Amino acid sequence: MTLTSRRLISLALTALVATPLAAFAQAQRAHVHGQVRLEVAIEGPTVVIEMQSPLDNFTGFERAPRTDAEKKTADAVVAQLRAADQLFRIDPVANCKLGPVTLRSPALGLGQAEGEASEGHADLDGTFAFNCTNAAAAKFIDVGLFGAFKGPRQIDAQIASPQGQFKRSLKRPAERLAWSK
Ligand SMILES: [Zn+2]
Repeated sequence: MTLTSRRLISLALTALVATPLAAFAQAQRAHVHGQVRLEVAIEGPTVVIEMQSPLDNFTGFERAPRTDAEKKTADAVVAQLRAADQLFRIDPVANCKLGPVTLRSPALGLGQAEGEASEGHADLDGTFAFNCTNAAAAKFIDVGLFGAFKGPRQIDAQIASPQGQFKRSLKRPAERLAWSK
């Protein structure tokens, strides 16, 4: 067996092993314009919302801003997402206050996005943490992303709360992400 053929077999084996995982990661991190993915984790006194979204949903472009108008758009988007208690209005019974917000979008010069950068596409991801006096009592979040931005058409959410695990989808213009039984 030549070295080359050995290498080919080894590559083929690697591909066989890697493909299902890659497919899984792809499904987890699908980049679909119009779609926003949210993972809501309610644990102890905190509600943490992880958001994955194509940058296009917020800005209408997926690269660094080029013109003054694009720069303005990008700055406005970042400001809106940082004021996350306006976009994610948690059930008042939980009595939550916005904590740290981390935004990730290399195209906008903000940290490292989790999704793989694919040719011509870019993400804007975020982590929004809230501190609450009664987090476990929360049964809904009113999500203002449809009202604030033109791009998102569907929000796919997973909620992990003391009441259980839930999957919910919101289609424009619905706002209430509810998981009460
Ligand atoms: Zn894209």
